[in-house]
This record gives sequence, C-alpha cells and structure tokens, in this order.
Amino acid sequence: MAEAGVASRRASEKLILAGKVKVNGEIIRELGTKVSNDDAIQVEGKLIEQEKKDYYLFYKPRGVISAVTDNHHRKVVVDYFPEVTERIYPIGRLDYDTSGILLVTNDGELANQMMHPRFKVAKTYLAKVKGIPTKEQLQQLEKGIMIDGRKTAPARIKKIAIKKDNSLWQLTIHEGRNHQVKKMFAAIGHPVNKLRRERYGFLDLTGLVSGQYRRLTGNEIERLR
Ligand code: URA
Repeated sequence: MAEAGVASRRASEKLILAGKVKVNGEIIRELGTKVSNDDAIQVEGKLIEQEKKDYYLFYKPRGVISAVTDNHHRKVVVDYFPEVTERIYPIGRLDYDTSGILLVTNDGELANQMMHPRFKVAKTYLAKVKGIPTKEQLQQLEKGIMIDGRKTAPARIKKIAIKKDNSLWQLTIHEGRNHQVKKMFAAIGHPVNKLRRERYGFLDLTGLVSGQYRRLTGNEIERLR
C-alpha cells in the first residue's frame, strides 16, 4: 500500500488493523500479508492501482551516477529512461567512472533481496590495470586479499591481454564491497585505469551498446529470484 502511494507504512498498518483493507474481497487483518500483482486490493472500499513492476538491464556508460538524482547535476541512470514513468532505480551501484551492466527496477522487494550481502551473485569485470601483475600477485587476488581490514572471498582471474605499460584482466567476484575491484588491484600495486562490468550472474551485455537498455524477459526475472 505504501509503495502504491496510498498511505505511509504506519498509516497503512492502522488501516489494516482497523479492518479497512480487503484482498480479493476479503478483509485482511494480518500485517505483512503478501499480495501479488494479480490481487485486487481495496482500501475503504476503493480499489487501488498497483504500480506495474518493471525490470531492465542497462549498459551504464562511464560518467554516470548510479542513482536517481545527483546534487551536482551530473548525469544519472534514470536520465537514460525518459519514457519510463514508474519510479525506477538501480539495484546496487557502479562507480561514476565504471561502465557496464546494471539492473534497474521499481521492485523494492527484489532490489533489497539482491543488495543483501547474503545474495552472492557472480559479477565479472574487465579491468585495465597499470603495469603487469606477477603470477604471485594474481594468486593473492584469487585466494583473497586484505582490503579495509577484511579479506576478500576467493576470486577468479583470467588474462585477456598484456601490453607494454598495462594489462587487461577478467575478474569474477561474488561480493559487492565498495570499490572492491579497484581496491583489490590497488592492494597488489596495480591500480585500475578502466573498469567495466561485463556479467551479472547469468546476464551479460549482448545486444546493447553503452547507454542502451532492454527489458528483462519473464524467464530472466524468474531466474533472478
Ligand atoms: N568495483 C569497483 O571498484 N568499482 C565498481 O564500480 C564496481 C566494482
């Protein structure tokens, strides 16, 4: 009810306890009763419109804030969705200067679930780093390395290219700590120059160019849950 803009959470609870809310014609008095998009909800006899749930896969460009608004008037993710009227927001964050895959939705429940540290989806990044790390340094990243006083969980690394002054690596991690990839490479003395997230679980950027989005399919949404 709060999500649909009927009343605040507290006021909604009061309405439920007062027996003023019906789901599919029946009064419900239990707080936290689960409803789906197909249920008809009436508050004091009036049918409420449930906001349609939308799910998008967005190829975030560099130079965009993973947010809905920005105090400094920089470009934000929702600027790329001018025709979407629902109140959408990104699930998690990519740094301002990181590009790549970002999920965007108005489904608060799914967003909370996916942003919880327990939810360990594999995320694959392409990192261009300064210099060429040694085998030992790469093993440190794979085994786990101290950042912010805590060891990272095991990671997978694949060599993509070695150049004169820099190198390209594909790194897969399951955690989502703040600036994690940058901090991991910085910890072995090879700071990241450029970063792109290429995969998020089973999803990748196939068919999209930077700045574009597509709707997730029903099947993909099911698989995310
Ligand atoms: N790790 C980072 O350092 N930055 C990101 O944007 C994502 C992961």
